[in-house]
Amino acid sequence: MNLILLGPPGAGKGTQAEALAARHGLIQLSTGAMLRATVKAGTEIGLKADAVMKGGGLVSDDIVVRIIKERIAEPDCENGFILDGFPRTLPQAAALEKMLKAAKHRLDAVIELKVDDKVLVARISGRFSCSKCSAGYHDTFKPTKVRGVCDTCGSKEFTRRADDNAETVQARLMAYYKETSPLIGYYFAKGRLESVDGMGSIEKVGADIELAIEMLAG
Ligand code: ADP
Ligand code: AMP
Repeated sequence: MNLILLGPPGAGKGTQAEALAARHGLIQLSTGAMLRATVKAGTEIGLKADAVMKGGGLVSDDIVVRIIKERIAEPDCENGFILDGFPRTLPQAAALEKMLKAAKHRLDAVIELKVDDKVLVARISGRFSCSKCSAGYHDTFKPTKVRGVCDTCGSKEFTRRADDNAETVQARLMAYYKETSPLIGYYFAKGRLESVDGMGSIEKVGADIELAIEMLAG
């Protein structure tokens, strides 16, 4: 099964992708995480991406399409994947369609997570993740079970993203409404889209996503 999670920054795509991957044995593909890895590695792509990400803009289609194309071709993606943060523009969606067709992969469902803007800011400002296994948390909404210890791998080291600040959030929201939200109509017209209320608890949103997948892919 191949899925896309669509929604503004902080909507819960990463959180739900992590849970879906565990429940269904799928691979979570986050272009944001992949780009952050290139920044950390200090590659040429990383240097270019870093400045754009710090400003809350979108990295060029060429770069993200190349990254995702290479990743989807790896053998572990054969059993299915969840795209978290890709596509983010219409040209990226067109490129994805081409690469899925070439690899004889099917797109089973596109799930849009709907969350109020005010809530997005609260979610983004409390976000942190495990430095070792990348499990995602929130200061208030999803704290670790034992304070300071990752639930998943036991690590005691956590990181906060450089772009998770009030100024950048506004730019990222603008980029979402301008460049990414047209994808909702694009996938609706293809009969692949279901919208899910992302305002409930993480568990409730997860259950609603399962129902939406059943409707589209079942
Ligand atoms: P995205 O990947 O869409 O940017 P995340 O999955 O990283 O968003 O979620 C943003 C923050 O909000 C994280 O800290 C996460 O723990 C928290 N979060 C995710 N879903 C919910 C929810 N349904 N209710 C409350 N907090 C949530
Ligand atoms: P995310 O982790 O999904 O919140 O993404 C963090 C940042 O990475 C975004 O604000 C963009 O600058 C960049 N990014 C991630 N995915 C894409 C994409 N598909 N297209 C363009 N830029 C992206």
